[in-house]
Amino acid sequence: MASAKKAFISGAIRREYEKKMKACPVATQDVHVNLENRNHAIKEYGYGPLNPNEQNRKFWGKKADMWDVSPAEAKKSRCGNCAAFIQTPQMLQCIENGMEAGDEPHESNAKDVIEASNLGYCEFFHFKCAGDRTCDAWIVGGPVK
Ligand code: SF4
Repeated sequence: MASAKKAFISGAIRREYEKKMKACPVATQDVHVNLENRNHAIKEYGYGPLNPNEQNRKFWGKKADMWDVSPAEAKKSRCGNCAAFIQTPQMLQCIENGMEAGDEPHESNAKDVIEASNLGYCEFFHFKCAGDRTCDAWIVGGPVK
């Protein structure tokens, strides 16, 4: 009787967990999908730079030319203030859950990684992006919190 009750409870927990995971975008739960979509954004939409802490003169120069602004102006347009950048509590939870479930090698400190990278989810290209990066499709009005 006790084992039937235990199986019922663990089944209910598992179903609840699966329901929760289903509500999350695939890329937040599957690193391969995430990288595929991110690489597409890099190749087709100039997502970057690789290390936003560097000067990246060439990268920002290209963005400045495209947007017809100065490099200093271009640097103000980043994922962190893009309208496609989703940082709702539910989305951040999805990202954290995905990492903790083994989505990425940093599972033990998912929250720290999310905070350090200012991670969010790109609604346009469907991948986890870092707040300090940008892409050609940047749009004013974000983030969505
Ligand atoms: S669309 Fe916005 S959030 Fe997505 S990669 Fe480009 S700048 Fe970042």
